[in-house]
Amino acid sequence: MKIDYIVVGLGLAGIAFIEQLKQHNKTFIVFEDNSQNSSKVAGGMFNPVILKRFTPVWQATEQLKIAIPFYKKLEQKLNCTLIRYIDIKKSFKTIEEQNNWYFACDHPKLKNYLSKDIQENTNSCIIAPNGLGKVTNVGNINTKILLDNYKKEISDFVIEEKFIHSKLQVASDKIQYKYINAKHIVFCEGYGIKQNPFFKNLPLKEAKGELLEIKTGNLKIDFILKSSVFIMPLSTDTYKVGATFNWKDKTNLPTENGRQELIDKLKKTITCDYKITNQVAGIRPTVKDRRPLIGTHKTHKNVHLLNGLGTRGVMLAPILSKKLFQAIENNKEIEKEINLNRFY
Ligand SMILES: Cc1cc2nc3c(=O)[nH]c(=O)nc-3n(C[C@H](O)[C@H](O)[C@H](O)COP(=O)(O)OP(=O)(O)OC[C@H]3O[C@@H](n4cnc5c(N)ncnc54)[C@H](O)[C@@H]3O)c2cc1C
Repeated sequence: MKIDYIVVGLGLAGIAFIEQLKQHNKTFIVFEDNSQNSSKVAGGMFNPVILKRFTPVWQATEQLKIAIPFYKKLEQKLNCTLIRYIDIKKSFKTIEEQNNWYFACDHPKLKNYLSKDIQENTNSCIIAPNGLGKVTNVGNINTKILLDNYKKEISDFVIEEKFIHSKLQVASDKIQYKYINAKHIVFCEGYGIKQNPFFKNLPLKEAKGELLEIKTGNLKIDFILKSSVFIMPLSTDTYKVGATFNWKDKTNLPTENGRQELIDKLKKTITCDYKITNQVAGIRPTVKDRRPLIGTHKTHKNVHLLNGLGTRGVMLAPILSKKLFQAIENNKEIEKEINLNRFY
């Protein structure tokens, strides 16, 4: 079988890159073995504000300009709803935090998102003695629906098995994998990179995250509450609660510690009773300097990487896939800040 591209991994990165391939009429095959979970379990939020410090996310405006039309187009193609605009309300822990918020509201990159009026909390289930600050023009992508529907849409081109790196033969003008002959290979493996001999030494670290799904009839919120944890409405009376950060655990299995941490943080966030209905975990592929990792292998010019999406895969994947495709096909330069060659 002769094709243009082999893609390894069908998470947010793989989907975004395949969209580039389709747009430019390139043929491809994608391998997916369900070994990683990050895109599947993600909260899927797109929010250009770092809510710890009230500062702008790096290049958020540029990212969103590409990301929102990208997901809108996928909604039409897949005939499903992926984008939900929903406000985030930040509960202030201290008066100092309130003051920092007022200050941030005037930041040119944040003023379209942060509302100056601090709201008094009127919901008796929510603990917010210093009020709530509203972030607008933000929301989330339903990544689970995206992944499921996308895989179905391209099912003829998906091979549901583990890609075995040792079976790959790389020559200067072609890539051979079993019966497949391709011009290029693009690895979009998330934390699976650790088994990839071409790229495993790049400084990508595991940032494991766990989430709970809870059911409570009393909370009744139609916004994402951000306090010690975030609480995101799903369907009626059901909410996603997250997320933990663990820099040591390399598995994507839910743990008792993760569950307890979220329960403890929930105690500081809401007062009402709830029932835990599910717990999931995944590993965010996070780079030492908190920037993505894209580009081409230093010796093999047909072996490429799209990784390091960290905590913001939703906003990053569409713009990065475009940059990587243009670099491969049209020799466009990838800026140093995101180019994997910064670590060579
Ligand atoms: C708890 C949690 C909450 C998050 N919340 C948000 C959020 O609100 N907003 C946001 O933007 N981001 C969020 N993220 C981060 C986001 O999920 C990631 O940035 C993004 O999913 C990474 O996508 P990826 O495609 O690079 O990696 P992955 O999603 O890990 O995809 C890699 C794919 O490659 C496959 N694979 C790997 N190795 C092989 C192999 N050898 N053969 C075949 N297949 C292989 C895996 O099975 C997997 O499907 C969150 C992450 C977690 C864990």
